[in-house]
Amino acid sequence: MSDAHLVLEGVKHSYGEGDKAVHVLEDAYLSVKSGEIVAIVAPSGAGKSTLLHIGGLLERPQAGEVTICGTPTMGLGERGRTLMRRDTIGYVYQFHNLLPEFSALENVAMPQLISGYTSNSAQNRAQTLLDMLNVGPRALHRPAELSGGEQQRVAIARAAANHPRVILADEPTGNLDPETSDLVFKALAGLIREEGAAALIATHNHDLARKADRIVTLRRGRVEPITL
Ligand code: ADP
Ligand code: MG
Repeated sequence: MSDAHLVLEGVKHSYGEGDKAVHVLEDAYLSVKSGEIVAIVAPSGAGKSTLLHIGGLLERPQAGEVTICGTPTMGLGERGRTLMRRDTIGYVYQFHNLLPEFSALENVAMPQLISGYTSNSAQNRAQTLLDMLNVGPRALHRPAELSGGEQQRVAIARAAANHPRVILADEPTGNLDPETSDLVFKALAGLIREEGAAALIATHNHDLARKADRIVTLRRGRVEPITL
């Protein structure tokens, strides 16, 4: 197996049909290695979320192949894709998407419980991750009792809970102030490097993008390298 954990090849995707079709991805190629952080910076509507959804197996492209840790996924059925998502992929949304009625700790433990870990080991791992992200003392609070930056760090801990080989983050600091963005991005990057995951992070923030190993953009539906 190559060390490219996430490989997109010839990915094509459009929404709608006929005259109304929006061709978002035309022939997109991208490969992200273990421990590598790739930032994707492109104008709104360029197709960043679409690319992340496809890489995260939340959406199936109309053509092309998405290979996760050496396994081509286009031939997988829904069950296979769900298991791959659960065990191999961590996803961070712009708006944390935490379950409001559960504590931070429970939110982070949840994916591990679903994967069959014991309650004890899930809670230990959850607390370790929250500590690593400096939100340990807030573990028993519900999302509504946390600040935006704390909520995003809990969401990052949740995405990392099952030791994903691939982490996708869609504007994870998009609704945070600059100082908090910096803190959250550093926490995310530190975790990715520690876990040796391959990460693709969409961001509008050029300063944060420059902290990635590589920056790409989307032009005419293709992934292209850029420098900022
Ligand atoms: P970005 O994340 O870069 O802002 P998106 O991937 O969300 O871009 O969207 C790319 C294009 O696809 C936009 O023109 C958007 O309006 C369109 N689009 C996204 N999702 C859908 C959908 N479910 N149905 C129709 N059009 C969509
Ligand atoms: Mg988007």
